[in-house]
Amino acid sequence: MTGKVYLVGSGPGGLGLMTFRAREVIDLADVILYDQLPGDEIIASLPDVEKIDVGKYGGSHTKEQNEIENLMIKFAKAGKTVVRLKGGDPFLFGRGGEEMEILRDNGIEVVMVPGITSGIAVPECVGIPVTHRDFASQVTFLTGHEDPTKEESAIDWKWLAGTKGTLVILMGVKNLPKISRFLVENGMNGDRPVAIIERGLRPDQRVTTGTLEDISEKARVRGVKPPAIIVIGDVVSLYRE
Ligand code: SAH
Repeated sequence: MTGKVYLVGSGPGGLGLMTFRAREVIDLADVILYDQLPGDEIIASLPDVEKIDVGKYGGSHTKEQNEIENLMIKFAKAGKTVVRLKGGDPFLFGRGGEEMEILRDNGIEVVMVPGITSGIAVPECVGIPVTHRDFASQVTFLTGHEDPTKEESAIDWKWLAGTKGTLVILMGVKNLPKISRFLVENGMNGDRPVAIIERGLRPDQRVTTGTLEDISEKARVRGVKPPAIIVIGDVVSLYRE
């Protein structure tokens, strides 16, 4: 009998923000494939079954994506219950959608277990709501992997420069100088507040605030590193140290 794969979101960090359902399916697993993003506390709590670190962290690919997919297929075809544990929610920039498709194409049952996404929870835990009736009634989540100055982009950067809503950028640390410059050059107010939350909900969490105009210099001086969430918008004014 073919096994099945649970694609599980671990939440933004720490056991407290992992769902009950995630915990339950982890306890059913014969094999767990995990990234580093779930964080030390969660990884240390995993049961004593076969565990494979398939982490890709800060650009260093421990295992290529298709290797990860092949491992899941191999274990499921051998009848095992597989948990693929990912940070946050599997379907927000987690490649969960791609993994689901490939597993389906191979005739493997896939069960999704949503997680709390860092895109909402990390700002939330430092007191920044991604929407607020006085400040923003729309929010856009985007990957900062895309270079806004590139001819071809899957992101409508010009549109973003004109939006009143909140921008929540994941994976944006490296391109922050380009992104902030592009947004200002395309009409966004340079005074728009920005917050960067590094390692949200971890013991060494750090917040850097500024404006669109000065944030990339501040980030450079402070040596801001991934993983971090960047929030651009008036909601950032609610942040208190
Ligand atoms: N699926 C995940 C996101 C995966 S993309 C989710 O829903 O949260 C990886 C990016 O998520 C990181 O580069 C960073 O931008 C963000 N991220 C995830 N966890 C984070 C945390 N605890 N603190 C800050 N950023 C985090």
